[in-house]
Amino acid sequence: MAWTMRDDRVKVQLFRFVDALPGLRTPEAIAEHLAEYLGPVAARLPFPAAWVLSRMRDSTWLARLAAFAATVGVRQLARKFIAGEDLPRIIAEVTRLRHRHLAFTVDLLGEAIISSSEADAYRDAYLQLIDGLADAAATWPHDLQIDHDQHGALPAVNISLKVSALVNRFDPADPLGSVRAVRTRLEPILRAARKRGVFVNIDMEHNAVRPLTLDLITEVLGSDEFRGWRDVGIAIQAYLRCAHQDLERLLRWSEDRGTPFWIRLVKGAYHDHERVVAAQQGWPVPVFTDKAATDANYEALSDWLLDRHDVLRPAFASHNVRSIAHILAGVEQRRLPQRAVEFQMLYGMAEPLKATLVERGERVRVYAPYGRLLPGMAYLVRRLLENTSNQSFVRVGFLEHGDEEGLLMKPQSGGTAHITAARPRGFTNQALLDFSQASSREACSHALDALRRRLPLTCPAVIGVTRIAVDDRVCSRNPGRQDQIVARVSATGEAEANAAVAAAMAAFPDWRDRSVEERAVLLERLADELLRRRHDLIALIVLESGKNAPEADADVCEAIDFCRFYAVEMRRLDTARIRDLPGEQNRMFYEPRGVAVVIAPWNFPLAILCGMATAALVAGNTVIMKPAEQTPAIAFHLMEAMQAAGFPQGVVNLLPGTGEIVGPILVGHPDVSLITFTGSVAVGLAINEQAARSRTAEVKRVVCEMGGKNAIIVDADADLDEAVLGVMHSAFGYQGQKCSACSRVIVIGDHAAFVERLVQATASLTIGPADDPASAIGPVIDEEAKHRILARIAEATKSARLIYAGIVPSDIDAAGSYIAPHIFTDVDPASSLAQDEIFGPVLAVIGARNLDDAIRIANGTRFALTGGLYSRSPSAITRVTREFRVGNLYINRKITGALVDVQPFGGFKLSGIGSKAGGPDYLLQFLVPRCVTENTLRHGFTPDL
Ligand code: NAD
Repeated sequence: MAWTMRDDRVKVQLFRFVDALPGLRTPEAIAEHLAEYLGPVAARLPFPAAWVLSRMRDSTWLARLAAFAATVGVRQLARKFIAGEDLPRIIAEVTRLRHRHLAFTVDLLGEAIISSSEADAYRDAYLQLIDGLADAAATWPHDLQIDHDQHGALPAVNISLKVSALVNRFDPADPLGSVRAVRTRLEPILRAARKRGVFVNIDMEHNAVRPLTLDLITEVLGSDEFRGWRDVGIAIQAYLRCAHQDLERLLRWSEDRGTPFWIRLVKGAYHDHERVVAAQQGWPVPVFTDKAATDANYEALSDWLLDRHDVLRPAFASHNVRSIAHILAGVEQRRLPQRAVEFQMLYGMAEPLKATLVERGERVRVYAPYGRLLPGMAYLVRRLLENTSNQSFVRVGFLEHGDEEGLLMKPQSGGTAHITAARPRGFTNQALLDFSQASSREACSHALDALRRRLPLTCPAVIGVTRIAVDDRVCSRNPGRQDQIVARVSATGEAEANAAVAAAMAAFPDWRDRSVEERAVLLERLADELLRRRHDLIALIVLESGKNAPEADADVCEAIDFCRFYAVEMRRLDTARIRDLPGEQNRMFYEPRGVAVVIAPWNFPLAILCGMATAALVAGNTVIMKPAEQTPAIAFHLMEAMQAAGFPQGVVNLLPGTGEIVGPILVGHPDVSLITFTGSVAVGLAINEQAARSRTAEVKRVVCEMGGKNAIIVDADADLDEAVLGVMHSAFGYQGQKCSACSRVIVIGDHAAFVERLVQATASLTIGPADDPASAIGPVIDEEAKHRILARIAEATKSARLIYAGIVPSDIDAAGSYIAPHIFTDVDPASSLAQDEIFGPVLAVIGARNLDDAIRIANGTRFALTGGLYSRSPSAITRVTREFRVGNLYINRKITGALVDVQPFGGFKLSGIGSKAGGPDYLLQFLVPRCVTENTLRHGFTPDL
C-alpha cells in the first residue's frame, strides 16, 4: 500500500486490475490484463516488476508466473481485510479476536443481488451464519470488557446486514413493494437472531435507499413483535448533511417504541458515488464535499448522541484518533461509565489504535467481513481506496506518520462545500425527479388520481385558429387497461391535412421574419410551461403510453432539454459569418425552409414530438405536428403548452390522424418543404422515397430517424453483476420499446454463467400496469403490437432456443396488452430474430468466439443506432470504440437514456439519415444557408479601406 500511494496513476491502474481479477478465468487472461493495466505505468514501477512486464509478452512461463504472483498477492491483500472465507474460518477468526478482548460484528460479503433466488440464498446464508456463530458462542467464556455494559450483558454474537441484499429490486420509486419484499426475508433473520441472542446491526448504503431503509427498519422494529427487542441498531452516516435530521427522527421513534436502539455512527463509505450521482442527475450533493466538514459533523453528532445515550445507544465507528479522542473526552466530561459507548473499527485496519483502546479498557468491536475472497474484491477495493486516500487518517496517521498536531487539530471546513453540482457549460439538463423523495412520488400519484377522474379527455386537432370537433369513434386507450379510454380525438383526413398546410403556409412569412431571439425566448417559455405541467404530463404519459413514472419523467425532462438546447443552439447559429475582402462584403447566414411536417412515434410521445417540432420552429419554419395514433392526448397537451407559451396561431398546428391516411398527403404536398420523421424503417424509407419523387418546385428535405437492432458485447472479463443488470435494463426497460433498446447480446466465450444470471434476474421482474410502482414491466403499446410481437416470438422458436419465456399473470393479461420478457439462445446471427427489429421485450443471446467475431456479428445488420460493450480490458475498449460502428456506443453502462447535448442521439445506415438530435449539427437540417456578396467599390472608391 505504501508503494501504491506514492503514485496516483499506479494506484488507479493497480486497483482497476484488482477489480477485474475476479472475472479472469485463465492465467493467460490474468497476464494480459496485468500487462494492459500496468504496462502504461511500467516506468513508474519498481525495477523487477517493470522488467517482468516488459518480458511477459514473449515468455509464456514468465506470463504464467506473473499471473500466479499477482493472484497470490491480491489474495494475500484480500485476507488482510476479509476475515474469513467460510463459516469455520470466520468462527476461528472471531474467536481469535475475542482472545484479544476485541468484540466483533460479522458482515456477509456477496455479489450484487439481482434475482429473487439470489436474495433467498443470501437470507439463508445469514440464517446459517447466525446459527453457526451462536453455537460457537456457547463455548466462549464471558469477557466483561466486551460482553457487558452498564445495563448488563451484551450479545457476544453481532452481525451486520445490508437490507438491499435481501431483495432483487430495492427501488425507492416503489417503497411499499420494496418494503414488503424485504420484510419477507428480513423478518426470519431478525426472529432467528433474537431467538439465538444475536445482535443485528443494519448497515446504511447509498443515499438513494436511505429513506427507504429508515422506513423499513422503523416499521419492522416498531411492530408488536420486535418493539421490545434491544439488540438492534442501524448505521448513520455523518458525511450526510441530513444525518442530524435522521437522528432526531430515530430519537422520537425510539422514545415512542419504548426500547433503546443502537446507533453506529460512521462517516460513510459511498462518498464518491454520492457525488457522481448528484453531478450526473443535477441533484444537490447530499454529502459534505469537504472531509473536515464531515469530521466536524461527526464530532457534533457524537456529542448529540452522548447526551441521549440512554435512548439511542452509541457505537462510534472511526479510525480517526481525533474523533475518538473527542468522544472519550465527551464521555469523561459527562461522567458516563466506561463502556457506555462502544468503538468500532474495520478488520485489518488501525491495529495500534484498537490495541490502545483495549488497553484503556474500552469496548472495541471489529467489523469483520466474511465471504469468498474474489467476489469480495469490490469491498477490498473500497477499503484500499479508503486507506490510500490523501485525506484518510489511516494513511496520514499510520502509514505516513504525519504531523501529530495537524492530525489532532479541530476539524475546520475549508468552506469549499457546494450545494449543487454545477456543470461547466452553458446548457444544463433538466434534473430528473428524485423518486426516493416521498414528495416526488406523492405528486405523481396525485396527478394520476386527478387525471383518472378527468378521463376521457377531449383532444381536437388544432389547425390555425380552428379546433376540429372530436369523433367518438376515434380514441386512444390505456395499453395496460384496454377498457380505459384516455382521449377522444378528431378524425382527420385529406381536407384537414390540406387545411393544416394552408394554415402553416399562411403563418410562415411573419414567423420567418421574426428575430431568432424572439423565437428562442418562446422555446424557453415552452420549457417553463412543460416544467410547470410536469406531473400532469407524467400522469398522461403513464396512462396513454404505458411508461412507468420515472421513465415518463425522463420523457418530460428530455422535452424540456430540447426546448432549452435548441434555443441556445439557434442563438449560436444566428451570428452571421463574415468574410469581407477589400471592396467586397461577404456574409453567410441561415434561413428557414418553410412548412415543416413533423411525424412522430409513440415511444417517446412527448420528447421526440417536442424535439422535432421545436427544432423546426426555432429555425423559423412553421409546423404541422402529426403525432402517433396511440398518443394523441400527450401531443394535445404539448400543443396547449405551446399556445400558453405564446406561439402565434398557425405557426404550429396539430393534426392527429392515421399515418397511412394523412401521412402521404402531407409528405407529398407541394407546399411542404421539410419532413422530419422518427419511426420505423419501413415508413421512413417510404417517406424518403415519396418526398424525393414529389414533383414540386423544390427538393424536399427529409430528416429521418429510424429503427435499430442494437447489440451489447459482453467480454469474457466483464463484471457480470453490471453486465447482467445493464443488459436487462437495456433490453426490457419500457418493454424493449425504445429505439435504443438492446435486442442482441453477444457474449464472448463461455456464456452459461451470464445467461443463467440474466434469466434469473429477468424472472424476478414483476409485470403489471405502468401506474403501479411495483411493476418493472408494463404493457406494450397496443393489441396490434402484442400480436405482432407474439407472432415474431413464435417464428423465432423455429430457429433458436427459447430459454426463458416470462408469464403474464392472468388477471393482468386479460386487462391489457402485456408481453413478458423472452430470451433466446443459440441464435443464428443471420436469422430474422438477429436481424430485424421486433420492438418488444425479446432478446437474442448470440455466442462469439472472440472479440473479432463479436465485432463482426455486432456490425452485421442493416442498422447502426446504439451499441454497448461490457469489458475491463483497455485494449478491447479501444478496439470496440473504433470498430463497432454505431451512432451511440456505450461502454460499461446501459445503452438507453441518452441525454440532450451530453450524448447527441441518432444513427446511420438504415437507422437514420439525420444528424443527431440534441447535438450541434441538428438545427442545420432545418435551415438553408445563404451567402450574400456585395461589391462596395464605387468608381474606385470604397468606404472600407
Ligand atoms: P411508425 O413508423 O409505425 O410510426 C411513426 C409515425 O409515422 C407515426 O406518427 C405514424 O402515424 C406515422 N406513419 C405511419 N405510416 C405513415 C405513412 N405511410 N406516411 C407517413 N407517416 C406515417 O413507428 P412507431 O411504431 O410509432 O415507432 C416505433 C419505431 O420508431 C421503431 O422502429 C423505433 O426504432 C423507431 N424510433 C426511432 C428513433 C430514433 O431516434 N432513431 C426514436 C424513436 C423511435
